[in-house]
Amino acid sequence: MPKTIIVSNRLPIKIQREEDKLSYKPSEGGLATGLGSIYKEGDNIWIGWPGLAIQKTKEKEEIVERLTEENMKPVFLNTSEIEDFYEGFSNETLWPNFHYFNQYAVYEEHLWLAYKKVNRKFAKAIEEVLEEGDTLWIHDYQLLLLPQMVRDINAQTSIGFFLHIPFPSFESFRLLPWRRELLNGMMGADFLGFHTYDDMRHFLSSVNRLAGIGNSNGQINVGNRPVLADALPMGIDYDKYASAAALPDTLDREVRYRTSLGDVKLILTIDRLDYSKGIPQRLLAFEQFLEENEDFQGKVSLLMVVVPSRDKVPKYAQLKEEIDLLVGRINGRFGKMNWMPIHYFYRSFPLNALSAFYRMAHVALVTPMRDGMNLVCKEFIASKLDKKGVLILSEMAGASKELSDAILINPNDIRQLVAAIKEALTMPEDEQQRRMHIMQESLKRYNIHAWVNLFMKRLAFIKKEQENLQ
Ligand code: UDP
Repeated sequence: MPKTIIVSNRLPIKIQREEDKLSYKPSEGGLATGLGSIYKEGDNIWIGWPGLAIQKTKEKEEIVERLTEENMKPVFLNTSEIEDFYEGFSNETLWPNFHYFNQYAVYEEHLWLAYKKVNRKFAKAIEEVLEEGDTLWIHDYQLLLLPQMVRDINAQTSIGFFLHIPFPSFESFRLLPWRRELLNGMMGADFLGFHTYDDMRHFLSSVNRLAGIGNSNGQINVGNRPVLADALPMGIDYDKYASAAALPDTLDREVRYRTSLGDVKLILTIDRLDYSKGIPQRLLAFEQFLEENEDFQGKVSLLMVVVPSRDKVPKYAQLKEEIDLLVGRINGRFGKMNWMPIHYFYRSFPLNALSAFYRMAHVALVTPMRDGMNLVCKEFIASKLDKKGVLILSEMAGASKELSDAILINPNDIRQLVAAIKEALTMPEDEQQRRMHIMQESLKRYNIHAWVNLFMKRLAFIKKEQENLQ
């Protein structure tokens, strides 16, 4: 019986070392939920890194045994592979290049070699389980070379690939010394999915410029194999967020948090620590808003969650310092005994706390300089059961293509951002509800399950086209 193999850098599980024992916690990410319906069935399997370096053979065996029960297969990475493949090439070369932060990108041959080596390691893990007729779904920028590596193992395999971050314009992509190899790796897939039409277009333009292959409605011919690229924005598990917002525990939390914060309007911002998220620019805009709108001082606070991430990469450590300084400066400048302009948390929260934050917030301020999709803004919308609340959203986030009823801004335009904050805080309730309703209907319909189904349909479609040619 043919099976489906999901492959991503991380497995949908968090393994942690607690003293001398290992603990296993399921990951709550959207991808894990969406693909849960697939990989848990029959012989289907999810292949990926379990999230920490394991040295002892005995521990590796324990992990393999435990994960096999849950339809997962680990790929173990040693500490130098984690440094060079994951923190290095993935996060210090591809990430900045794909997000248009080329001044932060490092181009080092030894990182590239580690990237190739680890992609090969994944290919080998796939080879161990791959059988005739299997379907593969490979995820994200850490595994760009993998589609072609698998094609080299078995030319007939059905291979889908989804990129969760932006695909940059050719003018950025061309800066990578290994652009041709990376593109060839991706073209090993039969179907390539991107969050937005622009990402897809950028990919096709690189294919044209670097490989000389033109497209017709997103279809390219790689040799004599038709390959399809399409825009498929990823949705959220809408019901999960809507029902979390209705739980008694969430309401209790909201009451408790509200009591501590006092009677102020709340602007919510939630991001991983990342320079692509535009956190300092947002803080500067909030500062300017307070400066220009004295009547709002004491009446509005920013609730800012920054989730620690990649803090071993120097650029991230610097960003953390910059944020700390800005928050300190703004609170020092405007704060009063009974009012703090910014409530800042540098940590991550579980769903029930986030859900209370989403409910409480009058405004969600989501202003990345660049973001493949951005799920926080979608979760905020799904949590607004009374449809009251306003989303301010950067036009550089993939989500902005679907959420045109948000207040859309250019995050570099501080004047526009300041005006948007004022507009959001003073928007009449019926207008808030009208916009929220439209956005909710679209997110309900294009939820994570619809996304998974559509992806599989597009992959099956192009395989059929290939068969028809034979
Ligand atoms: N998130 C979380 N706890 C937190 C803050 C965020 O679980 O304290 C989750 C949030 O619910 C969302 C994800 O982290 O699902 C962030 O996804 P997004 O696409 O917005 O950004 P990314 O981090 O993938 O760039």
